[in-house]
Amino acid sequence: MPVPFTDSAEVAHFIDGRPATGAGDRTQPVFNPATGAEARRVRLAAARDVEAAVASAKRAFPAWADTPPIRRARVLLKFLELLNQHKDELAAVITAEHGKVFSDAQGEVSRGIDIVEFACGIPQLLKGDYTDQVSTGIDNWTMRQPLGVVAGITPFNFPVMVPCWMFPVAIAAGNAFVLKPSERDPSASLLIARLLREAGLPDGVFNVVQGDKLAVDALLEHPDVKAVSFVGSTPIANYIYETGARHGKRVQALGGAKNHMVVMPDADIDQAVDALVGAGYGSAGERCMAISVAVLVGDVADKVIPKLAERARALVVKNGMEPDAEMGPVVTRQALERIEGYIALGAEEGAELVVDGRGLKVEGHEGGFFTGGTLFDRVTPGMRIYREEIFGPVLACVRVADFAEAVRLVNDHEFGNGVACYTRDGHAAREFARRIEVGMVGINVPIPVPMAWHGFGGWKRSLFGDMHAYGEEGVRFYTRQKSVMQRWPESTAKGAEFAMPTAR
Ligand code: NAD
Repeated sequence: MPVPFTDSAEVAHFIDGRPATGAGDRTQPVFNPATGAEARRVRLAAARDVEAAVASAKRAFPAWADTPPIRRARVLLKFLELLNQHKDELAAVITAEHGKVFSDAQGEVSRGIDIVEFACGIPQLLKGDYTDQVSTGIDNWTMRQPLGVVAGITPFNFPVMVPCWMFPVAIAAGNAFVLKPSERDPSASLLIARLLREAGLPDGVFNVVQGDKLAVDALLEHPDVKAVSFVGSTPIANYIYETGARHGKRVQALGGAKNHMVVMPDADIDQAVDALVGAGYGSAGERCMAISVAVLVGDVADKVIPKLAERARALVVKNGMEPDAEMGPVVTRQALERIEGYIALGAEEGAELVVDGRGLKVEGHEGGFFTGGTLFDRVTPGMRIYREEIFGPVLACVRVADFAEAVRLVNDHEFGNGVACYTRDGHAAREFARRIEVGMVGINVPIPVPMAWHGFGGWKRSLFGDMHAYGEEGVRFYTRQKSVMQRWPESTAKGAEFAMPTAR
């Protein structure tokens, strides 16, 4: 087992290639969720700190944008090597501040590494189109050029992977980047910044400003920030999209979720139960792709619920650094109170509380933010525990009569991030994938997070903007197309032309 992360130094910014305390004097505690103790404090940027980070990025941009893509890729290749060397160190930082179990944190770092590997292919990804002889003596080609300074604002639940959805592609494409990580688990961002510098990234190409709404607003309003990528809850995503657009920026804002898993009567029940337990309770339900609703079709509920209940009661919940932990604490006391508040609400609303995870105490960690796995049966679409994102280890089961009702239920929900269908019927699976109004679909796959070259994004109120994160959509988001037409005429001039040019 690797050494747990215990650094108690204040978490500051990283501007112009070095750590920076910044001008602001506000700070906020960062907790170890497993003990409930304040572990360190994070600085909260003042507008002047954002100004310094953007100014540094703006200075660094022209030379970086002019660096041949293959040389930018070589810096990323070196970074990739360093990330692999420091994988467990990063995972320990994640567990220390987020709480998720160490093996899950290792998985998070691996999924971030996937995107860095993808971004190393940037010379191929930036290759333009070319048409010889669009008209006699004229050639036309398109190329994609970087935007300038771009910003990323990220949530607490993936402090390494979600920033990696953004900055590797953005900087590979020639932009300079300013990251505003979550103030709840900010330390991983500084380790990333240090490794990028060690890899040879020029100062100013990657900056970190720690902070809250004040820093976010300063980025949204800054005229030199050309694009903003956001991942977080839906109300904030909506705000970022509207505010960024009002300030003339390109915005992709990924929001919240309520992911359903439909279990058809012909599904392999044991496989479906395994999938529901892992996807419902893994990472204490604090994943945007967690399954929070099981849609049980026909007579499936009576087979699934007893098995689910047994598994939810048997979950091993403890400090995420313990090798046998299956679920760690949730991120903060406020999150714990919100989740347990929803469990009380569900019972009041008339759902059947089959397993109640509230009030769980972990020996030796009595102050930790722990709650057990909770299971509700007979949840109905009118209930708030069905409609709203709880973002904790609470699985709500809805019973439906048939496939059509299951599809209708999913499509009527305001969120459309991820969805899964467990079945052994190929026709039902195909119909499901085609008819469902959700951005990422799993057929017998509970958490269908697309690989690095496919791009990630939901539909409806789970994504504001039109481009998904990473993959080729990511390359498009961080670049703009230029079309060049070129003619090298013979030396004799033919006079001005006033009609719309057409192919000759
Ligand atoms: P959050 O919306 O509270 O915070 C996200 C970021 O926004 C943080 O950096 C935070 O500092 C900033 N922020 C918070 N309040 C703000 C405000 N009023 N004005 C400006 N900025 C503000 O989200 P969170 O609790 O950190 O993360 C959990 C949420 O993220 C869940 O809703 C989850 O579904 C969502 N999420 C979505 C995806 C996805 O891909 N769709 C991925 C991961 C997480």
